[in-house]
Amino acid sequence: MANEIADKKKHIVIVGGGPVGALNACYLSRRGFKVDLYEGRNDIRQEENATGRSINLALSCRGIAALNHVGLDKRVMALGIPMKARMIHLPNGELYSVPYGKTGQHLLSIDRLQLNKDLLTVASSQPNVSIHFNTKLINCDIKKAKATFSKKDGAEITTTSDAIFGCDGAFSAVRRQMQRGVFNYSQEYIQHGYKELTIPSTKNGEFAMAANYLHIWPRHEFMMIGLPNQDKSFTVTLFMPFTKFNALTKGDEVVEFFKEVFPDSLPLIGEELLREDFFKLPALSLVSVKCSPYHCGNTVALFGDAAHAVVPFFGQGLNGSLEDVLVFDGIMEKHENDFDKVLPEYTKVRCKDGQALADLSKQNYIEMRSSVVSLWFLFRKKVDNI
Ligand code: FAD
Repeated sequence: MANEIADKKKHIVIVGGGPVGALNACYLSRRGFKVDLYEGRNDIRQEENATGRSINLALSCRGIAALNHVGLDKRVMALGIPMKARMIHLPNGELYSVPYGKTGQHLLSIDRLQLNKDLLTVASSQPNVSIHFNTKLINCDIKKAKATFSKKDGAEITTTSDAIFGCDGAFSAVRRQMQRGVFNYSQEYIQHGYKELTIPSTKNGEFAMAANYLHIWPRHEFMMIGLPNQDKSFTVTLFMPFTKFNALTKGDEVVEFFKEVFPDSLPLIGEELLREDFFKLPALSLVSVKCSPYHCGNTVALFGDAAHAVVPFFGQGLNGSLEDVLVFDGIMEKHENDFDKVLPEYTKVRCKDGQALADLSKQNYIEMRSSVVSLWFLFRKKVDNI
């Protein structure tokens, strides 16, 4: 029965070869679908990391469970660095840690790019998956599942399939087409942006701070976080209002700012590297997207950031996005791949989760930059009173 229906719905076009598009290709291929995945960028496996820096993220059990189905969970766990607790850096240099869970429970700091590369490698090794790089969706007729792509050389190609899966990130072109019909959509840019900096390994090639923690410098109006990398460096992300970023226009001002608010981090980053890295790129913006439904008829569905881009303070953006694919697969199993039933149920089950994720992510920014400090003062007061 399942195969009979899979035969009727056998060709899927995936737009976007980020982690979610690549994982989706693996899942669909295991169900016997023919998959064409179109990615606007070059094949990241052929490129050197342009900045030479590691960009990482926190992976939790949601993401790992979704990777388990394609056999990547063990590799990711072997390469990831366990973060068992938050390490809070107070302005006076004091440190304290807040565990993420019971003994043995932890998040994993993983290399974003490497995860994406590994997923593309697994996807491209499936016999029924073809990946087309440098091929960008420019238009689609969602009712007919007809998509037009532009190639790097300017040539255009048009495909008609049984369904289009939009895995094309926060500024999804697939979602833009859905907005022409009955569709609810909102986006919000927060007043804060971010810059990524680096704490390099020590001269002896060791981590400059305790490795198995997600380091946080909460400063109420803004904050900085640091996640460990395999090469013993830390990727440090400064989240701050754009007005504050814009006020720092010279290297000396940046160094003074760090001396005042993140004094313990300055010798670890190094003044020279800080002056260099801080002005490499402008502060980047952070957008939160909510929409509903996540599907149109039996021909289109949205996954990952295309459905629910969230601000990164809950550490669940990618985790929730990978989980979309796992949840969708469960619904496919239940309805034996019948898209007439699967797609509406996916919206019913997943929309409220995506919207809750967006809200929790915003709330957790306050928790991360302020409440963790307040809790510490409360706790210290209690201890002092005993
Ligand atoms: P993307 O990764 O954006 O991939 C979309 C792909 O689609 C891209 O390859 C793009 O080139 C392609 N594409 C776009 N348009 C087209 C088109 N028209 N045609 C063809 N291809 C197209 N999440 C966590 O779980 N934990 C964290 O710790 C975490 N930290 C974060 C820190 C920061 C600073 C930020 C910004 C995000 C963080 N996230 C984190 C969120 C996470 O990065 C995203 O949720 C995740 O990348 C979403 O994956 P995706 O595949 O849906 O989208």
